[in-house]
Amino acid sequence: MEKIRMKTPLVEMDGDEMTRIIWKMIKDILLSPYIELNTEYYDLGLVHRNETDDQVTVDSANATKKYGVAVKCATITPNAQRMTEYDLKEMWKSPNGTIRAILDGTVFRAPIIVKGITPLIPTWKKPITIARHAYGDVYKNTEMRVGKGSKAELVVTSADGKESREVIHSFDDTDGIIQGLHNTDSSIGSFARSCFNFALDVKQDLWFATKDTISKKYDHRFKDIFQEIFDAEYADKFKEAGIEYFYTLIDDAVARVVRSEGGYIWACKNYDGDVMSDMVATAFGSLGMMTSVLVSPDGVYEYEAAHGTVTRHYYKHLKGEETSTNSVATLFAWSGALKKRGQLDNTPELVEFAEKLEKATVQTIEDGVMTGDLVALSNLPNKRKVNTEEFLTEIRDRLEKML
Ligand code: NAP
Ligand code: MG
Repeated sequence: MEKIRMKTPLVEMDGDEMTRIIWKMIKDILLSPYIELNTEYYDLGLVHRNETDDQVTVDSANATKKYGVAVKCATITPNAQRMTEYDLKEMWKSPNGTIRAILDGTVFRAPIIVKGITPLIPTWKKPITIARHAYGDVYKNTEMRVGKGSKAELVVTSADGKESREVIHSFDDTDGIIQGLHNTDSSIGSFARSCFNFALDVKQDLWFATKDTISKKYDHRFKDIFQEIFDAEYADKFKEAGIEYFYTLIDDAVARVVRSEGGYIWACKNYDGDVMSDMVATAFGSLGMMTSVLVSPDGVYEYEAAHGTVTRHYYKHLKGEETSTNSVATLFAWSGALKKRGQLDNTPELVEFAEKLEKATVQTIEDGVMTGDLVALSNLPNKRKVNTEEFLTEIRDRLEKML
């Protein structure tokens, strides 16, 4: 078979630890034999980030803007222990945070569903995608402890120097705490557009929920911006695609989600998305089956796995012990990126290959061949645990039959 050609480069961001090992295996076993891989390679492994003073992360994000599609391996976010382990010059920031800030994107997370692994919520038949706003609120807050007898106020100084004040609370007879949050109309607008675009892309309904009945200015602003942008720019496109935009209160949303079949996108404010994505991921099964894509409001896509670098497995691997690490989410990051590249470049053979790769992967698990994390969850009668590399060669055997 002749190798598939790629017209435009794909931005490839390599990473750390066990996922770096898996990255190379996926390329060697499942991609390079079939595709003339045309990637612009950036090594975001911690060693190289440190050597380049983290410039490589910025460069990779800018390349993503240029080419429109990237695939990223999981990376270490340094902490005190990593400073010593890697002898770092600085405690470099989270690469995902840096990339997100440059692309101004929204993160969409969706589980990969296979037969034999049933969600903990029995009504869930289709994936639920969580769209988390990744700017502001409690993640960029200012908070203080306040002493008894103090009065806390919100003070805003406008451009012309005028002050407006609102009392938060008078702490007459006890100490206490206060917190200042913010968000911006432009970030909320970008979030809304990313969600509407993604919904059109995957042809699924979009739900959005806040607590606007209690937070009459803050949360209400989110509700209004979503509605204004929807009415002005998306209502007709949604009708044409046969999908809906639906707003409700966050408590009502939670109740509906639990009773639902799945198959929609649930847009959440930053904190709600943090909490709900962990709840949804756990209820669907393994972290190794959760995909993640960052979508910018101008339509740039960066695909990755939702999990980290699987450090515990990596240390086993370094000791020469056998590992059984799930590569599905990383593999779907590749197939997602290749599919998007193929759609944008109008190379249907690339799209078709990526779809077959996904089918072969699901088929492998449904045949009972899986990694350790899934063996613990699967209710198939004849399941067999394989190691990290065997799992990929089992996928290749099935893929070959489809080509
Ligand atoms: P993690 O790498 O996601 O792993 C946590 C645990 O979840 C693993 O020890 C493993 O459990 C299980 N697990 C996760 N992915 C798996 C897979 N593909 N196959 C099988 N089991 C899997 O999270 P972490 O240990 O908290 O973080 C490790 C490093 O990753 C940190 O340096 C962190 O900064 C980084 N991180 C990066 C990203 C990113 O780049 N997007 C995201 C999160 C974390 P068992 O050990 O029980 O088998
Ligand atoms: Mg969380």
